[in-house]
Amino acid sequence: MRIDLHTHSAASDGTQSPAELVAAAAAAGLDVVALTDHDTTAGWEDARRALPPGLALVRGAELSCASIAPDGRRTPVHLLAYLFDPDEPTFAAARAGLRHDRVGRARRIVDRLVAGGIQVQWCRVEELAAGATVGRPHIARALVETGVIGSVDEAFADLLCRRGPYYVPKADVEVTEAVRMVLAAGGVPVFAHPFARRRGAVVGEDVIAALAGAGLAGIEVDHPDHDVADRARLATLTRDLGLVATGSSDFHGANKTVSLGRHLTDPASYDALIARATGPVGPVTG
Ligand code: AMP
Ligand code: ZN
Ligand code: FE
Ligand code: FE
Repeated sequence: MRIDLHTHSAASDGTQSPAELVAAAAAAGLDVVALTDHDTTAGWEDARRALPPGLALVRGAELSCASIAPDGRRTPVHLLAYLFDPDEPTFAAARAGLRHDRVGRARRIVDRLVAGGIQVQWCRVEELAAGATVGRPHIARALVETGVIGSVDEAFADLLCRRGPYYVPKADVEVTEAVRMVLAAGGVPVFAHPFARRRGAVVGEDVIAALAGAGLAGIEVDHPDHDVADRARLATLTRDLGLVATGSSDFHGANKTVSLGRHLTDPASYDALIARATGPVGPVTG
């Protein structure tokens, strides 16, 4: 069984349509794929309709969250949410708010770039996003198109990085509150890539332990942005907290070099995870 529990489509900042993504997942030899676009379920229907025979789809999302320290400092973190009811109103409203804020935020990043003499057009970013959850990858692609920078990776390393002069933070949900919202919608919350340092600051193990107390179901242990030592430490933490360890590619199509199935979740962990869903949504098979 090949199980990849974290991928993005063009419903957020991946480059393939949800239908293309599930076809690619089958071609990559996956048995289970989770679609986890940022702050949206917009790709769920298209992915489900296009499911190739034998492939199981876990519908999910990756939520923009923050861990807030006692001194008020916010560390951006991501929470994966699986198999929640997309119509549960509180959680649906939170996702809509996050998406709405991302538009103004992306616009402000573009304004800053333009004020800095860098050639990029907001209308082109809008076109590239095409109604999807907008993010820095869309701005990066517009920058690559105008020849300002060579690749999406370079844009992230340079112009769009979190410490850079053009960066604007995005809205987020406090992560404990997000865990509770996912649970209330019948879903299964998993902490995404906790030690992905290239995203900026990371939270301590104490923060993850506190989330376990609030109902966190799992931790993404095997992820392209974790090195061997990170994965060993997270595997121990996951075991100590009695949580489920997951693995994934965090596939983003042509925006990243990683392939589908780069890391996998073992079948027993997968079974334990989906058994935690309490709502009307389950995995679907083509
Ligand atoms: P944003 O959500 O707008 O802050 O943008 C960050 C998102 O861009 C994360 O979800 C990353 O996974 C994604 N991303 C896509 N392509 C890249 C890349 N080449 N380098 C870094 N992050 C990327
Ligand atoms: Zn992304
Ligand atoms: Fe992420
Ligand atoms: Fe992701």
